[in-house]
Amino acid sequence: MIFDHDHQVGPLLAAALVNADGEESLEGLLVEHRIRRPALSPTDAHEVGAWAVRLRQVFEAESPDDRCARVNALLAEISGALYLSTHDGTPPHLHLAPDTDGITARVRAVTAGGLAFFIASAHGRRFGLCARERCDRAFVDVSRGGRQRYCSARCGNTDAVARHRRAHG
Ligand SMILES: [Zn+2]
Ligand SMILES: [Zn+2]
Repeated sequence: MIFDHDHQVGPLLAAALVNADGEESLEGLLVEHRIRRPALSPTDAHEVGAWAVRLRQVFEAESPDDRCARVNALLAEISGALYLSTHDGTPPHLHLAPDTDGITARVRAVTAGGLAFFIASAHGRRFGLCARERCDRAFVDVSRGGRQRYCSARCGNTDAVARHRRAHG
């Protein structure tokens, strides 16, 4: 499976925003995910933080139908105009917001649109919340195998040890 730049950036950025430590850290996450013109005013940071709460609901969804309904609700709030972009020498690819849009509109478009494409191409099973008890971090699985259940290798190992202890009393 090939994930192109936007289909991959969108869900990965969505997970990073869900896992963010607070509004101060949001701009750094945008930089890390190579979102262009990432500067956030305090108002922008507040809006992106509120959007991240909505994104978490997508990761939390228990059924595929529920997940689709939650993404559809987000899609209804973005401009949604299909827009071919060739920024930074990339081959023409689809954006769901014009490059001239402000930062919050572009973050909404790339996360909602990216999750929608990702669900449609990966059947909605490749992301969610960490399977370890007491960890509520979001993850996105862009690996070939697509069997990730934890937010990190560390959570996977911790959980394996805990299960081993339970099994052997
Ligand atoms: Zn792009
Ligand atoms: Zn975890």
